Amino acid sequence: MQKSGPHDIARRHCFIPAVRARSIFRGSGLLAVIGALGLAVTLAHGGDNLGTLGTRPRWNVLEHYQNTITREEFADLIQNVYCTQGIPEGLVSIESDTARILKSRSDNSFFTLRFTADRPSREHVPRLWRPATGLGEAPSQKPLLGLKIALDPGHLGGKWAKMEERWLRIGESPPVQEGDLTLQVARILARRLRSLGATVTSLRNQPGPVTSERPGDFRDLARKILIKNGVPEPRPNPQTTDDPEKEQTIRWQSEMLFYRYSEIRRRAVLVNTRLHPDIVICLHFNAEGWGDPNQPSLTSANHLHLLVNGSYLQNELELDDERFEMIRRLLSRVYDEELPIADTIAKTMAEQTQLPPFQYPTTRTTTKVGSSGYVYARNLLATRIYRCPVLYCEPYVMNNQEAFDRLQAGDYDGTREFNGIQRKSIFREYADSVADGLTEYYRKARNL
Ligand SMILES: [Zn+2]
Repeated sequence: MQKSGPHDIARRHCFIPAVRARSIFRGSGLLAVIGALGLAVTLAHGGDNLGTLGTRPRWNVLEHYQNTITREEFADLIQNVYCTQGIPEGLVSIESDTARILKSRSDNSFFTLRFTADRPSREHVPRLWRPATGLGEAPSQKPLLGLKIALDPGHLGGKWAKMEERWLRIGESPPVQEGDLTLQVARILARRLRSLGATVTSLRNQPGPVTSERPGDFRDLARKILIKNGVPEPRPNPQTTDDPEKEQTIRWQSEMLFYRYSEIRRRAVLVNTRLHPDIVICLHFNAEGWGDPNQPSLTSANHLHLLVNGSYLQNELELDDERFEMIRRLLSRVYDEELPIADTIAKTMAEQTQLPPFQYPTTRTTTKVGSSGYVYARNLLATRIYRCPVLYCEPYVMNNQEAFDRLQAGDYDGTREFNGIQRKSIFREYADSVADGLTEYYRKARNL
């Protein structure tokens, strides 16, 4: 399941949300609470309008991108990838030779990006990651030689799984914890990718957080956010685990600040300042609304999709740091690389998992991109702030009976029968289908 943009609680559980987020929302005004996470930080920084735990943008970094993009390319990426949900007045205006991008509404300051007249060489685009064409020679049996891949096993798992609401249990079966499943896939996938020549790191090698912060570090911030959003005397704890107003408690808010925002921002520090990978692959399992985690409802739905960054909501574009990160991402031309990789992996995953494409019930948060039918643009924290191509994989619905049975079967050699069909273990099928897609993409792009 996905980590969502910071100020829209309805996006909190990706697909679970259709059912769960509605109940979370009911009568609580919680959209405003989450929206205000940014406002709370605003107070601290005086005048800035930042996302949750966001940092003040360094607009001068964009000076390095002057004269590196044509007007047509810039406009195409804005209209068809990043701002498909529309742009609030005055944030980005495309003139004949320049784009004017609002830095801050508080002082009405702008960054002016100058376009180039000719399609420039990508070699002059500042970035730390390398596209397939920049990796040099490789033997055909090692199509990923020289490629630096970071795997991001989604969520925390272990004893944290209940807190992060990535835990469900059917009857007396062992619990399903998404953060443990993604780690299992990452281990298998890392071995395969190394055998294909890649240098592989994992942002997490065991259950638990990467960030050193804990929920207790966020109690004051959680309290401020709740007060600012109309909960004058926030309760410290929910009364019961199914307290319908648990989101209005300091405990629930501070836990979310920890396991989502602090955690992903820490992973981004590893990606952007230590590992400098050529690509990050975020590994998740999907789910449909399951209600009570101890008596979860099962669904006949089972599906697959992949996400790349884009399709910013208008209220996300209003945040100074998100608008800056979007423009930097656009200018680094990460989309040139991540879309064809996503499309290629989507095809191998679709073939091997035999899953149909997930269809979002609304286009309000996502935009379908590419040609496979499985890839969407969406603005998630991880896809936005890891500064390289990022592929976000969402196969299998954990509370679908067949997927659940396959998860319960664990990892095994060979095949076993499910619904009359011989299948590899779900973990190997996931890992192999991603590895095969990467192999296909890099082989073709490197002419191997
Ligand atoms: Zn997930």
